[in-house]
Amino acid sequence: MLPALALVLLLTGCGKSGTPQVKGPQPGALPSYQVQSGDAVTGSAALDAARARGHLVVGVEEDQPYLGQKDPASGVYSGFDIEIARMAAADLGFAPDRIEFSTIASANRETALQNGQVDYYVGTYTINDNRKKLVGFAGPYFVAGQALLVRRSDEEINGPQDLNGRKVCSAAGSTPYQRIQKDYPKARLIGYDTYSACVDNLISGQVDAVTTDNAILQGYAAKAPDELRIAGEPFSTEPYGVGTPRNDTALRLAIDDALARHEQNGDWRKAYEATLGLSGMPAPEPPPIDRY
Ligand code: GLU
Repeated sequence: MLPALALVLLLTGCGKSGTPQVKGPQPGALPSYQVQSGDAVTGSAALDAARARGHLVVGVEEDQPYLGQKDPASGVYSGFDIEIARMAAADLGFAPDRIEFSTIASANRETALQNGQVDYYVGTYTINDNRKKLVGFAGPYFVAGQALLVRRSDEEINGPQDLNGRKVCSAAGSTPYQRIQKDYPKARLIGYDTYSACVDNLISGQVDAVTTDNAILQGYAAKAPDELRIAGEPFSTEPYGVGTPRNDTALRLAIDDALARHEQNGDWRKAYEATLGLSGMPAPEPPPIDRY
């Protein structure tokens, strides 16, 4: 079977007999977010541009089950990150029909924010000091950790210490890619644009492991539990932030406020349970917001 086709079949639940149909986000279970008056936030260049354009452009990922996923047939995006993007938009005065989602690969996020291609970015985006030199971060709104995904038949890989000489795949430009390069130089690291390309190659036997955040890997594993398993425990801390243009402090603080409000009023938990919670991880407490 062709690798690309293999993943499509797994993710749509029509793969090998025995692959269970896994529920996607149930639209009825998602909260709807009250749209605030549009002019409350002033002094944000990105927001001024969005108002002039008539809609927001939000950068996201499109191949991460339960986090940010685009339905290939309808073009509709869903997942926890998509809900976070909608919560922020509502508080900035934009109803869901005034958000245009744009898929931006992990390696291209900083550039997309720097050149105004997107107004903000919500897609498993780890906050760290290097990136803070280039972009701003509201949040964090969730904390993940780097983990490994392997074939269920593989009993030998149970943590990063077992990667010596093994082919491990991750997305170029991601923090998990950089960590393997630096801390596990004996692994044979392969970088692709997307994690779904890595998972295709794992299923077809061309790589031995996929590494990225547990939140992402758990989604792939939940969609193909007969074929894939998470190996070992998370071995890093990945606090997720909403990426903003670096100097747009007004936008960053307004999104911090939005996150805090939706965490307090129960929307955050409800959105989590209708999306990422379906991959099997119970809702944690949201982490404290860092208003720097
Ligand atoms: N959270 C990690 C990062 O920001 C990995 C996930 C991703 O590539 O989006 O690099």
